[in-house]
Amino acid sequence: MSDNCIFCKIANKEIPSQFVYEDDTVVAFKDLDPQGPVHVLVIPKKHIASLMDTTAEDKALLAHITCDVIPQLAKELNVAEKGFRTVVNTGEEGGQTVQHLHFHIIGGRSMQWPPG
Ligand code: 5GP
Ligand code: ZN
Repeated sequence: MSDNCIFCKIANKEIPSQFVYEDDTVVAFKDLDPQGPVHVLVIPKKHIASLMDTTAEDKALLAHITCDVIPQLAKELNVAEKGFRTVVNTGEEGGQTVQHLHFHIIGGRSMQWPPG
């Protein structure tokens, strides 16, 4: 838990949000400003500021998010078959606005490339 981190507060249920998944180490909830019909954020409960702040200790947690939680959620959110986008914005030029590592799952529409 990091003081004044909005996603730590969401993970601790101090700020209400629409949860779509929870286990011992991870929560997922609907984005406040959805960029598609499906837009969910998957976060570690542990405060990690960004991908640049991960350590060797976090490898199992990151594998759990990418290999277990995201594919399971994609199926539950009905975007697995048609496809979806997973985004991790990192740092200022990466467009990261919340300094707690989060994986966007965006789907339900066709995506463009390159992203803006
Ligand atoms: P970033 O720009 O850091 O990659 O993504 C931050 C995301 O968090 C944005 O898509 C934004 O809409 C979402 N967000 C920011 N504050 C809140 C909040 O209090 N609740 C929820 N559910 N989403 C939030
Ligand atoms: Zn945090």
